[in-house]
Amino acid sequence: MKYTVLENNRIASKGYAMLSKDAKFTPFEFTRHAVGDNDVLIKILYAGICHSDIHTAKSEWGEATYPCVPGHEIAGEVLAVGKNVSKFKVGDYAGVGCMVNSCGECEACKNSQEQFCENSKTVFTYNSKDVFHDNENTYGGYSNNIVVNENFAICVPKDAALDKVAPLLCAGITTYSPLKFSKVKQGSNIAVAGFGGLGMMAVKYAVKMGARVSVFARNENKKADALAMGASCFYTSTDKSEVKQSFDFIISTIPTFYDPIVYLDLLKFGGEMAIVGLPPLKNEVNINIKDLVYKAGKKVYGSLIGGIAQTQEMLDFSLRHQIYPEIELITPQEIDKAYKNLTSGKAKFRYVIDMTKE
Ligand code: NDP
Ligand code: ZN
Repeated sequence: MKYTVLENNRIASKGYAMLSKDAKFTPFEFTRHAVGDNDVLIKILYAGICHSDIHTAKSEWGEATYPCVPGHEIAGEVLAVGKNVSKFKVGDYAGVGCMVNSCGECEACKNSQEQFCENSKTVFTYNSKDVFHDNENTYGGYSNNIVVNENFAICVPKDAALDKVAPLLCAGITTYSPLKFSKVKQGSNIAVAGFGGLGMMAVKYAVKMGARVSVFARNENKKADALAMGASCFYTSTDKSEVKQSFDFIISTIPTFYDPIVYLDLLKFGGEMAIVGLPPLKNEVNINIKDLVYKAGKKVYGSLIGGIAQTQEMLDFSLRHQIYPEIELITPQEIDKAYKNLTSGKAKFRYVIDMTKE
């Protein structure tokens, strides 16, 4: 038996949790809700580390619920399926991103924009109230298994490299979605601000879509990587006298304080800026409306992950075109170090935890 069903049909799980915002990760045993008729139980093999995990676990976006088991870039193998499940069978590969359930009935859910469920029933993968299961707190992917509604599991072909698939479930969809929304295409001149886990995926997708891509980073460390991914320019300054070009589209993945107006300045008339990076509350970023009005004729919008249908589309697109993240595999013992590196400029791109290791 690859999993344990307890007497109340709950599933025994173990993972790694932070018990308070300043704690280190510690082994944590817990249970997950029973595998319902529409649910799949997935053995987690790989879990990517997203900067949102850090913001949440360290209560940077408001007080988290502890114990906190982050992780919403999940790839693994189906261990069990409920009796109504048609999308998966035992042994299939599956991915789980930032959501595990929603109402399914409102306009947003019907249009597969489940992250915007109009009945406020989106259940996020961790640190979220599961309104379908007695409001229990959800636990994420830094663990050995997860139970999700089959509609929220993404089909992954058996020949895919699961370790590299994991980050697509958040970093992939969060960048693919606004690139599609803003209709980035052959000949578009675009820029990516913040060149980490999300930024790298934005560069790779935009290059594949035929855009000319520039990267904005804080230092030259990853210039060669950007050029190798197909970027044309790499800047460590947003000064117009150095940049000397303007963009149809800019995506900001910056997770810390910065001034968004400098990027607005670099947009062409009619250009669009998608903001996905979400800095801590203490470093809150605001746009001055006077600047917005005087730099008029440009569109700025926020973007939150992407719906389930588009997540499947992104995964299929990525695998078809062999677009994978640059990853560094780590053991669960190395999560704290990875968090430190990600917050001190020492990380390269995506850390992925090998959840088969103790
Ligand atoms: P990473 O830490 O992997 O990457 C962030 C990158 O931004 C790093 O390379 C960092 O560089 C760079 N950076 C920091 N400050 C600046 C600056 N002022 N100018 C240019 N670059 C800068 O984070 P992720 O890619 O995982 O996540 C990015 C953000 O997106 C986070 O806030 C996260 O919460 C958010 N997010 C939002 C989602 C959504 O749906 N909207 C979904 C997923 C994530 P350095 O290495 O020098 O620090
Ligand atoms: Zn994420």
